[in-house]
Amino acid sequence: MSSELHLPAATAAPSPARKPRVATCSLAGCFGCHTSFLDIDERLFALAEVVEFDRSPITDIKHCGPCDIGLVEGGLCNAENVQVLREFRAHCKVLVAVGACAITGGLPAQRNPLDIGTILRDVYVERTGLAPGSRVPDDPELPLPLAHVHPIHEVVHIDHFLPGCPPSADAIWAFVTALLEGRAPPAGWGAIHYD
Ligand code: SF4
Repeated sequence: MSSELHLPAATAAPSPARKPRVATCSLAGCFGCHTSFLDIDERLFALAEVVEFDRSPITDIKHCGPCDIGLVEGGLCNAENVQVLREFRAHCKVLVAVGACAITGGLPAQRNPLDIGTILRDVYVERTGLAPGSRVPDDPELPLPLAHVHPIHEVVHIDHFLPGCPPSADAIWAFVTALLEGRAPPAGWGAIHYD
């Protein structure tokens, strides 16, 4: 797939002070969608020519600032996920749910039929082989788990959905470049990839 980017006239020659800003975040996922994003390989250099990266695996930015495009991997399994997602929504003009976990809850949502208290007791208290005195972790630094895992559109407005588990690097490239070029992002089963 070509690594050329054809930005619309308004952004074809962005001033150094105002390139489009792109951010990503991983919520309750496996980082596989981010790995797929990084698998666009040398096309990252073409992308880096025309955009600034905000929070992403390429930077060390912890909190998203004002952005043009935000890519979200993963669903919502704890209170911190909700907080990060709301911050993303507040800062990103266009928000994309990337991958099955963001769109449906995905694999983490397999716990939804079970009671979260029962899961925690089974894993940390009642499982065989635990050390004496084992208990459910309760450090205040740990984010509180939600009773159920939620897809992100249940909490904030999502502008686009990019399905797959993970979406392929080519699908992510095609999607992001279409948004940057002001085109409708591609859709269709040919672009969808599930391992
Ligand atoms: Fe991982 Fe698949 Fe979820 Fe992406 S959609 S975070 S690859 S499990």
